[in-house]
Amino acid sequence: MITKSRLQNLARQHGTPLFVIDHDALRKVYREFKKHLPRVQAYYAVKANPDPMIVRTLFEEGASFDVASMPEFKIVYQNIRHLPAKQRQDWIWDKIIYANPTKPTDTLEELNRYKPLVTFDNREEIHKIKRHAPDAGLALRLKVPNTGAMVELSSKFGASPGEAVDLILEADRLGLTVEGISFHVGSQTTNFENYVQALSLTAGVFQEARSRGYTKMNLLDIGGGFPAPYDASVRPFAELAKVINTELDRLFPADIQVLAEPGRFFAAVCGTSVSSIIGKAVRDGKTCYYINDGVYHTYSGVIFDHCKYPVHAFKKGPTSICSVFGPTCDALDVVSMAENLPELERGDLVYSVNIGAYSHASSTWFNGFPPAKVVHANR
Ligand SMILES: *Cc1c(COP(=O)(O)O)cnc(C)c1O
Repeated sequence: MITKSRLQNLARQHGTPLFVIDHDALRKVYREFKKHLPRVQAYYAVKANPDPMIVRTLFEEGASFDVASMPEFKIVYQNIRHLPAKQRQDWIWDKIIYANPTKPTDTLEELNRYKPLVTFDNREEIHKIKRHAPDAGLALRLKVPNTGAMVELSSKFGASPGEAVDLILEADRLGLTVEGISFHVGSQTTNFENYVQALSLTAGVFQEARSRGYTKMNLLDIGGGFPAPYDASVRPFAELAKVINTELDRLFPADIQVLAEPGRFFAAVCGTSVSSIIGKAVRDGKTCYYINDGVYHTYSGVIFDHCKYPVHAFKKGPTSICSVFGPTCDALDVVSMAENLPELERGDLVYSVNIGAYSHASSTWFNGFPPAKVVHANR
């Protein structure tokens, strides 16, 4: 954990807004995942935070990677480009999944030479893959309930269980190999029942495929959705892992390869933002602080990720309910309408923890304000 005085020192040294990535926290959460889900290989979902040093640290820990665009693929590829071709190819095949069910044809053409595993969820995509990336391996993305997830994905992605095996057989007829099945229960899933239902649906599709003569599937991808500990209402990861392990052992033979695609769970806890008060006003009796980071920048999760990030002061003192606004001219740029903060002055620092996922990744240059400067701690 980075101490408050270290955060303040980093802010003094580098200026604000600052985005601090703690690589000790990253290693710790990766190891926690491995410890509680020993059957599951973790493919870090790069989109949660594509910082190349995050990818590097996880690479060194032995992680695999879920990428969803060509630039994300290249960030991961940087780490293996020095390997001999054969080893590089084996690594890609073993450790990368291109998990965007809908891929542009030029991306498929570029991907084909790397022969990666790619997901799909409809007939059109099968024919596109056949034509533009015939050497790729396939995983069917199944539609599963996303009930109670903070970010729901089931309306945009996934084949329904009823059509799943027809699609698998269609790909097979075209000479493609469907290696297995993937799903995503929705991001920040605190309803553990989603995993139970998804695993049971998937086991049903495995069974139907076998009974209809398709026996080449040996891969189960349980996706992302593992909840970050944003507040005390999120039950410990160990509890979720126990639920998942029980279902895996009950429903799937030991020789099925199981993988997962945690994004938020790895990235969230390793990021802390530090910003400065740049202005202060009292409106309708309420103190409003203007800081030099906001929803077009590190706090983008407030808009895109349905997320809230408490803003803390380093200063102590009696608090009152305040508003915290970002620096841009847009009225949408509201970090929070209700934060308990002490009396602060221009130049004072504030910070938010657990802000590593879907935050800096979606920063813009809106209004001319650049994304927060990234610093790496404990790398
Ligand atoms: C975004 C995404 C993930 C990561 O999800 P988290 O909820 O951040 O763990 C994993 N797999 C796919 C296919 C995704 O789109």
